[in-house]
Amino acid sequence: MTEPTSTSQGFDYLIVGAGFAGSVLAERLANDGKRVLIVDKRPHIGGNAYDCYNDDGILIHPYGPHIFHTNSREVIDYLSRFTKWRPYEHRVLASVDGQLLPIPINLDTVNKLYGLSLTSFQVEEFFASVAEKVDQVRTSEDVVVSKVGRDLYNKFFRGYTRKQWDLDPSELDASVTARVPTRTNRDDRYFADTYQMMPLHGYTRMFENMLAHPNIKVMLGTDYREIADFIPYGHMIYTGPVDAFFDYCYGKLPYRSLEFVHETHAQEQFQAVGTVNYPNDYAYTRISEFKHITGQQHRHTSVVYELPRAEGDPYYPIPRPANQELYKKYAALAEGRPDVTFVGRLATYRYYNMDQVVAQALTTYKKLTAATPEPEAQ
Ligand code: FAD
Ligand code: UDP
Repeated sequence: MTEPTSTSQGFDYLIVGAGFAGSVLAERLANDGKRVLIVDKRPHIGGNAYDCYNDDGILIHPYGPHIFHTNSREVIDYLSRFTKWRPYEHRVLASVDGQLLPIPINLDTVNKLYGLSLTSFQVEEFFASVAEKVDQVRTSEDVVVSKVGRDLYNKFFRGYTRKQWDLDPSELDASVTARVPTRTNRDDRYFADTYQMMPLHGYTRMFENMLAHPNIKVMLGTDYREIADFIPYGHMIYTGPVDAFFDYCYGKLPYRSLEFVHETHAQEQFQAVGTVNYPNDYAYTRISEFKHITGQQHRHTSVVYELPRAEGDPYYPIPRPANQELYKKYAALAEGRPDVTFVGRLATYRYYNMDQVVAQALTTYKKLTAATPEPEAQ
C-alpha cells in the first residue's frame, strides 16, 4: 500500500466524511502523531448522527432518531474518552388495529392484540401453533412467518417493510427484519444489548471532543473532489458511498433515502414512548419524540416523521442478493486501490449501526497502523 508520508508539508491522511467512521479514524491517527485533514460536504461534523438545538431550544437529531446500544465493551470504553453517558432504554409501540402495542412482539403484544391472557409458556405454544414451516430462512418474510405466523407478520411487518424499502419482505435478506426479535416475556425494550445509553451532552459534542486535536484540521461544506488534487496527502480514507467514488461505473448501487419532517408542539409530551411505528397507515413509518431519547426537560416537545424515499441522500444500503452482487464489483475496484481505505456504512455497503461502524473503524485503524511502520526518529 502507499505509505502515509510524514513530510513537513501536507497531511498524512485525507479523510472523507466526518461521521463515526471518519472521526474515529481521524482521532486514532492524530493520536499517533499523524497529520489529518477531515473533509465533509455537509456544513457540520457527526455524519448522520449529528444533533443540534432547534430554534425552540430542543435537542434534535436532524437525520432521524439515533439511539446508542452495543454489546462491545471496547466500543464503550473508546467512546467514553469523549463523552459521559445517560442511561436510556428505547421503547417502541406499534399502532395496529387501533391499539398501541409493544414492538418487538412480546407476551403483552399478543395478549392485547387478541384479548388473551396467556402466560409466557402458553405464548410460546401459541407461536409454535401459528408459525409457518420454512425449510430455509432466506428472506425477511421467512424470518417472521417462521416465528410468529402470517397474521402477526401482516399486521406488524409486511406494511412497514413495504413502505420503508418499497420492496416486499420476500425480496429482502433475512437480516433486515431479523433486527427485530420476538419475545415470549414482557421485556418491551427495543434493543437487548448490554449497554444502552445516550451521550450526555449529545453526539455533536462527543464528535467535537474527538476531533479537538492539534493534528486534525476539519474542513466542512467541501466535497473532497474540490480539494483532493490541490492538497498534498499520503493516504485517503473514504467513508462516502462506494459507487459515487467510482463514478457509478457499474451503475448506481441502490440506497434507500428518507425525508425527515420535524415539528415542535406546544405541549410537554407528544406520545408515550420514544418512537411509535405506523406499519399500516400513513406514508410515514414512524414518529420519534426527542425528549424521551435525550432526557431534555422543556415545556415544548419536538418530533420527527420519517417518510421513505427512493431519491435523496443515501441512508440505507438495501440488503438483497442482487445488490450484494453489484457491491462486490465495487468492492473489487476498492481492493485495487491501495492508496484508499474504504470504511463505514456507505463505503462498505453494510446496514451497520453506530457501534458497528465504530468497531469497524477501530479494526481498520489497527490494520492501517500494522501496515505502516512508524517513521524513524530524526
Ligand atoms: P455517515 O454518518 O453517513 O458519514 C459519512 C459522511 O461522509 C457524511 O457526513 C457525508 O456528508 C460525507 N460524505 C459523503 N460523500 C462525501 C464527499 N464526496 N465529500 C465529502 N464528504 C462526503 N445507528 C444506531 O446505532 N442506532 C440508531 O438508532 C440509528 N438510527 C438510525 C436512523 C436513521 C434514520 C439512519 C439513516 C441511520 C441510523 N443509524 C443508527 C445508523 C447510523 O446513522 C450509522 O451507522 C452511522 O451514522 C454511520 O456512520 P458513517 O461514518 O459510516 O456514515
Ligand atoms: N420492521 C417492521 N415493523 C416494525 C419495525 C421494523 O416491519 O415495527 C422491519 C422493517 O423492515 C425495518 C426493519 O424491520 O426496516 C428494521 O427495523 P429497525 O427498527 O431496526 O430499522 P432502522 O431503525 O434501522 O430504520
